[in-house]
Amino acid sequence: MVVSLATLEGLDLNNLFGLSPLDPGQQGELHDHVEELAAKHGLTCREEAIGWLDAEATFDEGWFCSPILRTEFDYLTALHEIGHLVLDLDTEDADGAILHSNEVEAWKWAIEEARITPSEAARDQIMVAFQTHGDDVGPTSEELDRLRAALADTGAGPTRLDREKSEDTPPEQPEDPPAG
Ligand SMILES: [Zn+2]
Repeated sequence: MVVSLATLEGLDLNNLFGLSPLDPGQQGELHDHVEELAAKHGLTCREEAIGWLDAEATFDEGWFCSPILRTEFDYLTALHEIGHLVLDLDTEDADGAILHSNEVEAWKWAIEEARITPSEAARDQIMVAFQTHGDDVGPTSEELDRLRAALADTGAGPTRLDREKSEDTPPEQPEDPPAG
């Protein structure tokens, strides 16, 4: 599905799927996580009153700009921008064409680092953001499938906070199959 911006006129592009506002506690927690990730990677976070279409990251200056966290999608957008910088993956090539495979990787990074499991509405919003990024050639069906697969594999919420700590330990070996 390709969504043209013309058909979206009059809709709130920043919240197409009616995401509920974050409660203040959650908003603070997610804000802290964005700051934490930024500090960990030596980046400066500028949280501003913008929509996701204006979110951006600069490679040479090490800062990124993301929307004020009102919904989980705003949070995921901030993580997506950090992902671009951490993975060193630009949004556009030298001719200004969108590098959709880089977009997939930055979204995957965001989803993996996120302390929340994105709701279905947030996943839908990510797919729309991905497909309406730039007005030239859209993503290939393979790229769409890769992002869909990443979104389908978002893990379970409560255990996600522990993932970082366990990264250093080797994965558990599967038990030997019973003989015979
Ligand atoms: Zn991007």
